[in-house]
Amino acid sequence: MTGLVTLVGGGPGREDLLTLAAARALARADVVLYDRLAPHERLQELAPGAELVDVGKRPGHHAVPQQEIEALMVEHAHAGRRVVRLKGGDPYVLGRGGEELLACHAAGVHVEVIPGVTSAVAVPGAAGIPLTHRGISHLFTVVSGHTPLSENELEHLSGLGGTIVVLMGVNSLPALTAGLARHGMSAQMPVAIIERGFTADQRTTIGDLADIVTAAGRARVASPAVVVIGEVVRLAHDGEAGATELMRRAAGFTAVGA
Ligand code: SAH
Repeated sequence: MTGLVTLVGGGPGREDLLTLAAARALARADVVLYDRLAPHERLQELAPGAELVDVGKRPGHHAVPQQEIEALMVEHAHAGRRVVRLKGGDPYVLGRGGEELLACHAAGVHVEVIPGVTSAVAVPGAAGIPLTHRGISHLFTVVSGHTPLSENELEHLSGLGGTIVVLMGVNSLPALTAGLARHGMSAQMPVAIIERGFTADQRTTIGDLADIVTAAGRARVASPAVVVIGEVVRLAHDGEAGATELMRRAAGFTAVGA
C-alpha cells in the first residue's frame, strides 16, 4: 500500500477557478492539507471522503510551520493515503511547492503536481488590469515582497520596463517604491494594489510611485493583496469605475474610509 501526494494549485480563492484536475484530485482524496488562500469553504463537498486539515498560512502567521506540513504530507502518504496538498494559486509561484515536492522525494513518496491559476496574473485581471497590452507592455516580472530586494535587483527591475507584479508586498511597499525611485523609475509610474481578489470585498487602490504608500496607508490596505507597477495600470477598471476614478477615491480616503 503506497500513498500518493498531489500538490494542487487551487487558484486565487474562488471555487470555480479550480481546474477540473484539481476537482478530481479532491474528489478522490483521503486527506486534504489546505491553505487559507485556496478555495476551502466547500471542501467537505469537494472532497467528501477526506479528512480536512487547515494548515492555514496567513501573512506573517504560519499556523503550521513548513517543516511540519511536509512531515504531515509524508506521514499520511506512508500510511497509504491519497494526500492532496491544496495551495493558493499555482504551487510553483512563490508557494514553496518545490520544497514540498523535494521533501516527498526525499522520503520516497510519489508526487504529482497540478498547476493552478496564479494570483499574480488573475488578481490584476480581476481589477481590469492586463499585465501585457500591445503597445504598452510586452513583459511582466513577478516579484516576492517577502524579503527585501538587493540594490542590484532594484536597479535592473527599474530599468527593465514592462509590468512589475508583487506578491506578499503590502508591508514592503515603502522600501520597494523608494528603491525603484532611487534607481530612476518615474515618480508618475502608475501603481495599483488589489486586495482580496475574487471575493466580495475585492478592492483596488490606485496611485503613482510617489504617492501609493500614502494612498495605501489612508485606505488601510491589508494582505492578501497583489501590487502592480506599470503603465498597464491606466487600463484598470473595477465595476463601473475606471483608473482615474479609482485614483480619486484613493486620494480622498481620509474623508470616506478612515
Ligand atoms: N502560489 C500563489 C502565491 C502565494 S504567495 C499564487 O500563485 O497565487 C501569497 C500571496 O499571493 C499573497 O500575499 C498575495 O500577494 C497573493 N494572493 C493570493 N491570492 C490572492 C487573492 N485572492 N487576492 C489578492 N492577493 C492574493
